[in-house]
Amino acid sequence: VKERGKAHYQFYRTEMNSSVFTNVVTLETHLRKAIDKAELSLYYQPQVNTETGEVKNFEALLRWKDREFGHISPSIFIPLAEDTGLIISIGYWVIENACRQIKSWNDNGYDDIHVAINISPKQFQHPNLVQFIQSMIKKYDIQASSLGIEITEGAMNDTKETIPILKKVKELGISISVDDFGTGYSSLNYIKQFPIDVLKIDQSFIRDILLDEKDAAITSTIIHLGKSLGLEVVAEGVENQKQVEFLSNAECYKIQGFYYSKPLPGDEIEKRFLVNNKLKQ
Ligand code: C2E
Ligand code: MG
Ligand code: MG
Ligand code: MG
Repeated sequence: VKERGKAHYQFYRTEMNSSVFTNVVTLETHLRKAIDKAELSLYYQPQVNTETGEVKNFEALLRWKDREFGHISPSIFIPLAEDTGLIISIGYWVIENACRQIKSWNDNGYDDIHVAINISPKQFQHPNLVQFIQSMIKKYDIQASSLGIEITEGAMNDTKETIPILKKVKELGISISVDDFGTGYSSLNYIKQFPIDVLKIDQSFIRDILLDEKDAAITSTIIHLGKSLGLEVVAEGVENQKQVEFLSNAECYKIQGFYYSKPLPGDEIEKRFLVNNKLKQ
C-alpha cells in the first residue's frame, strides 16, 4: 500500500474547505470503524430506458462520511479497502443493505425494480460470496431477479475460478454486468464463455463521444458487439442531451449518468423516480 505514495490518498476535507494529506494507516484505521460507526451509506443511480421512459434499474454506490475527514470518494477508499482486505466486510455490508432497500421498495409497492451492486475482484473470489447473497435474498424475502452484480474485467481473468462462480450467481437468477467495459486487459474470449447479461460502456469512452472520433467508433462497436451477442448495453457517465442522441442513433437505449440523475439516497429515488414513473399501480 505504501508504495502508492501520499498523493494517492490526498482528499478534500469538505467541512474545512481545505485539502489535507493523511497517511494510509490513519485512513485505514478510520475505514475499519466506519461500519460500526454507521458512517457508510448506499446511494442509488437510475438507469433510464430512453425508448420507454421507464426507470426500473438502479446501481448501488457506496458513500463514506468520516466524522473527521468528511466525505471520502469511493475511488480513494475502495482501492484502500481492496489492499487491506476490508473490502470483504464492506462488500457484505453493501449486499445486505441493497437487499434491505429492495425489500423496503417492495413493501411500498414497487416490485418491478432492479438493483445492481459493485463487487470488487477480491470479494468476487471470496469463497462465501454466493452463499451470502443467497442468504440475504432469503432473509429479506426478495426476488433474486431484482438483484444484479457488476464486476470489472479485472475480476474475470482467471477463467477456471471465475466461470463456476458466475454460473452459480446466474443460477440464482441474478444478472451479471461487466462494468467499465473496454478498459480491462482481458481478451474478448471471456464474453463468449461467461454467462454475462450486460455490458456497461466505460464512461471514459462516453465523455468525448461527440468530439473524439475514436471514442465514437469504440462506443458504436461495443453497442454492436453487445447486440450481436444478445447482451444488453448500458452507457454510463452520460451528462448531456447530445450524448443521449448519439447513443439513441447508435441504438443504445439504456442510459446512466448525471444527465438524468446523480446517485441519490433510497428515499429520494423513491420520491423522484418510483412514484413519478408510476411503477406503482
Ligand atoms: P463504477 O461502478 O463504474 O460507478 C460509476 C461511477 O461514475 C460512480 O462514481 C458514479 O457516481 C459516477 N458517475 C455516474 N454518472 C456520472 C456522470 O454522468 N459523470 C461522471 N463524471 N461520473 C458519473 P462513484 O460513486 O464515485 O464510484 C466510483 C467507483 O467506486 C465505482 O465505479 C466502483 O468501481 C467503486 N464503487 C462504488 N461503490 C462501490 C461498492 O459498493 N463496492 C465496490 N466494490 N466498489 C464500489
Ligand atoms: Mg459499477
Ligand atoms: Mg463503471
Ligand atoms: Mg469504475
